[in-house]
Amino acid sequence: MGKIFILIQSEGDAIHRVSLEAINGARQLRDSGGHSLHAVLMGSHAPPAPLKGCDIDEILHLNHAQLDQYSPEHFIAAAEALIAQESPGLIIAGHTYQARDWLPRLAVRIGLPMISDCTGFESGGSLTWLRPIFQGKISAEVTTADGPVMVSFQAGTFRSDDLGTGAPAVRAIDLDLSGVVPKVLREPKFQEAKGTVDLSRAERIVSVGRGIGEQEHMKIVEELAAVLGAELGSSRPVVDYGWLDHDRQVGSSGQTVTPKLYLAIGISGAIQHQVGMKNSGCIVAINKDAHAPIFEVADYGIVADLHEIVPALIQALKGEQ
Ligand SMILES: Cc1cc2nc3c(=O)[nH]c(=O)nc-3n(C[C@H](O)[C@H](O)[C@H](O)COP(=O)(O)OP(=O)(O)OC[C@H]3O[C@@H](n4cnc5c(N)ncnc54)[C@H](O)[C@@H]3O)c2cc1C
Repeated sequence: MGKIFILIQSEGDAIHRVSLEAINGARQLRDSGGHSLHAVLMGSHAPPAPLKGCDIDEILHLNHAQLDQYSPEHFIAAAEALIAQESPGLIIAGHTYQARDWLPRLAVRIGLPMISDCTGFESGGSLTWLRPIFQGKISAEVTTADGPVMVSFQAGTFRSDDLGTGAPAVRAIDLDLSGVVPKVLREPKFQEAKGTVDLSRAERIVSVGRGIGEQEHMKIVEELAAVLGAELGSSRPVVDYGWLDHDRQVGSSGQTVTPKLYLAIGISGAIQHQVGMKNSGCIVAINKDAHAPIFEVADYGIVADLHEIVPALIQALKGEQ
């Protein structure tokens, strides 16, 4: 494999969380032997702090003002020039909306296979990439012929909070982008609607599923969330019933979350839910069915009726018991 590139998505000092996760995936690959890890940073701003102190070998700084804001044509031209110069064996990125836009075009331009939205890999023997298909019901194992490949990782595949420590060298790359004629014109940046909840930043989430039974019962999980200082999340049926807004839904058609604590209450743990929460730090599940799949990913499981456990938890947390 040789050189592993990670294409970093950043805005000023802020690195996209999925890029940080990709660094951790790439570190695992690098540590499987004989490879080096290079973060590719676009734009004229100085490398952000998390990158300068993490366990990578080098920062390749594509230091050009035309890369300060997203422009697919400029990004593709810059990456193409760098890849031609450095010949990496593997190019990794987080599977963000931005990556979805320009990476397939880059792959076609430089003639490399692109395996998108991966949720893991197996590195014993030949390298196999895992990617969910058929709405997450099946995990496909993808291998490619020898040679360079591009890969993007789904959000939540790796942790983003411990990138190790290091002091990577920073190498500025000279670029001539004067010949790039952008065909895509930038509009003002999309603003999320006011009140939208970003569960991906929550440290604790109390998540509720269909097992709650009725809307009337939602108040007990709301109280538990309040006592724990947690955000409220849910499985899809709770959103479909209209008991919570869609921005609280966790899973393949909702948000991907990695809180320190994820409390799953009355959630069966269907694969579409698990892909959104399985990388949480500590998963606690309360479910009356001992065979519910949620227990396969839970660190702690309570097989019981939530209507007994949740009020008792609230009391205990309030110090009333
Ligand atoms: C294309 C597609 C996308 C999808 N996207 C998502 C998604 O993003 N997020 C998502 O969550 N789902 C998603 N789904 C739906 C998913 O397949 C499941 O149907 C859903 O996750 C089930 O939600 P649930 O666990 O709340 O309900 P159920 O599967 O009905 O589970 C309810 C659980 O509550 C338990 N329970 C019942 N009563 C009690 C009680 N009193 N005390 C304790 N436990 C109790 C039961 O034992 C059961 O395990 C998607 C499906 C498709 C096809």
